[in-house]
Amino acid sequence: MKGNVYLLLRQGGWEARATIAPEVDEAYWFGRTAAKQEEDCPSRQGRREESCGGDAVEAWLYKEELPWGQACLAADLWNSQQRGAAGRAGPGRQHPFQRLARLVAELQELDGRRQSPGIAREARQQLACRWGERSRGAAVSEETAGLAQLAAGLLQGRALLGCEARDLLVGAAGPGAGSSWSGALQLLSLLGQARLAGAVAAGDGGRRAAGELRCRRCGSGGVCLRRTRCYACGRMCAYCEACLMMGRSRECELFVTGVYTPSDAVGKLFCDQARMGRSHNISTGKAWGLSPAQEAAAAQALHFIELKLQQRSVMDASGVVSTNGEQPQPCPDRDFSHDQQQTVPVRHLGQDQLLKTSTRSSLKQHLQPHSLISRFTQKLFSSLLPNREEWAHYFLLWAVTGAGKTEMIFPLVETVLARGGRVLIASPRRDVVIELDPRLRKAFPEASVVTLYGGSEQRWERGSITLSTTHQLFRFHQAFDLVVIDELDAFPYHGDPMLHYAAGKCGLPGGPTVLLSATPPREMQAAAKSGRLAHARVPVRFHRHPLPVPRLVASPPVAVMLAGRKAPPVLLKALRESIQRGAQCFVFVQRISQTEGMAALLAKALPCRHVAATSSQDPERAEKVKRFRACDIRVLVTTTILERGVTIPRSDVYILDADGRLFDEASLVQMAGRAGRSADDPFGRVAFFAKERNESQLRAVRHIAGMNKAARRQGYLR
Ligand SMILES: [Zn+2]
Ligand SMILES: [Zn+2]
Repeated sequence: MKGNVYLLLRQGGWEARATIAPEVDEAYWFGRTAAKQEEDCPSRQGRREESCGGDAVEAWLYKEELPWGQACLAADLWNSQQRGAAGRAGPGRQHPFQRLARLVAELQELDGRRQSPGIAREARQQLACRWGERSRGAAVSEETAGLAQLAAGLLQGRALLGCEARDLLVGAAGPGAGSSWSGALQLLSLLGQARLAGAVAAGDGGRRAAGELRCRRCGSGGVCLRRTRCYACGRMCAYCEACLMMGRSRECELFVTGVYTPSDAVGKLFCDQARMGRSHNISTGKAWGLSPAQEAAAAQALHFIELKLQQRSVMDASGVVSTNGEQPQPCPDRDFSHDQQQTVPVRHLGQDQLLKTSTRSSLKQHLQPHSLISRFTQKLFSSLLPNREEWAHYFLLWAVTGAGKTEMIFPLVETVLARGGRVLIASPRRDVVIELDPRLRKAFPEASVVTLYGGSEQRWERGSITLSTTHQLFRFHQAFDLVVIDELDAFPYHGDPMLHYAAGKCGLPGGPTVLLSATPPREMQAAAKSGRLAHARVPVRFHRHPLPVPRLVASPPVAVMLAGRKAPPVLLKALRESIQRGAQCFVFVQRISQTEGMAALLAKALPCRHVAATSSQDPERAEKVKRFRACDIRVLVTTTILERGVTIPRSDVYILDADGRLFDEASLVQMAGRAGRSADDPFGRVAFFAKERNESQLRAVRHIAGMNKAARRQGYLR
């Protein structure tokens, strides 16, 4: 993607702006249709006095097209230099355009594109194009204006790479849009309805240091960014490895964000309700077949959501927009250039540095690869977790394994849909998303359900319910009234800051996010216990029997069993009993390399022949899980890959090397949660086999026993 930079004089000051379609900017600021465009745009009607299209005095376009990221950077740097100069001794004596030309030349020189330092004065003058009186005839074509109007709707709630935005527009408006899409986006950006930025750029308006390059789509920085010779811009161009599977996010790529404009739909509904003096009638319990524990938790979550929706409709009505997650404050009245001004690089490019006679050294520091590769530490992760105020938008549904989480979210979805809102349900696991799809369609036959995962048929559709894997969240920005995130602690979500980032930005500002988990991360448990995080616990399974509490059994390590070709009698006895009572067994080991050997050992010693092994590297895993479900395999030796998701009606769980460092409290609780899921066999057996009792095992047992105690106290057990 290429772009241009221009300088604009308005309201007594110069500012630099980057554009992907300079002819649109010229027409917008100076052309005869400037006023008309304003009126065409519904969100700006009645605000003409605030419009910025009419007060431009003069502008200078730098005619050479630059890689988009470089154009943005040049505009940013010019603006911060300008402000630095204004704060001291007034603007320099040089013409503003000469300073821009010098800046661009320096940036290009750092890229190695120009050998001589800067370019001759005459050559620079040839790169200048003045807009002003002579531009009165310029106009935005009807085609571009029409496409912009269409795009405004399509881009709401989206965060897309330039190529994705183009596909979206061409898909909606036909191949003719292939030539006018950039003009349409530029017009939207001028009207404050979209933001255009570099996909990998410094500064994002968030809490992080603005001087470091970051991927705007996934929030990654540091070691996640690499530089390669880019075929699109010809530079050594930084790109993001972390979200590469979603298409390449890089410095010269455009990143388009639809700007949130408070729609009155939800607010109006609340006003109508208030006027009619009745509250919305939502069925929490019986209609969805919830158990008493499920119903109580759903009611708490529902109360929270309604409160948040109400607060937001008040906020929207009063024009106050709060921030949500890591995104800069949305300002429908202003375009992105203003926001860029607020977020100029500070760490590497302080104003003092920029005031030096040559900016070259600071620029060099900024552009050197080594400044990208700072250590990617746990510190970053903790800085991305919500802070005190941000927890205010979260609700944790802490439900034991087998509690029936999905049913509990139905009433929550219902209440938002009834108000005309949009719901997102995200899960880190693709199979969960695929399995949920028919259940949601059945529960909400009137609603449009859009299901998104890698390789899904649907891609750009807009639904009242969006069901998505967590990675697809990168393509959304302030899109949903309610966000529900399932198994937030599950791989690959746990400890993955970029997915936290994505989840934080896809809800509407101030909107509620419901987190579902059986084993919330410790910092979240602490926030819940201290009252900072609203939550409800569901301590009992839907069948209202207690969770099986693990037995702690002393046994030699798996490595010793394999070396001695002998399984300990205590393990064989337990497995024989399980087989005798007609149960199937999960045998968990830590390492993939141990699965086959352990299965062979058990097959030799056990009376049943149906012993198998599987792991993440087993090409026949899906087939084996199917056979396990069909009871064709009686004992399955596996790794934590099966700690979630596979539910067998009558099953016992044996965890070997339970003291190993790969099993933490959460994974032990999840694995134990495979047992006793069915109402027909609620008392499955769970045992931790280990040489030592360690903290994780004890915590897991305490966790499970504590839930049972809470269930008993609240009268939920049968
Ligand atoms: Zn990224
Ligand atoms: Zn590039």
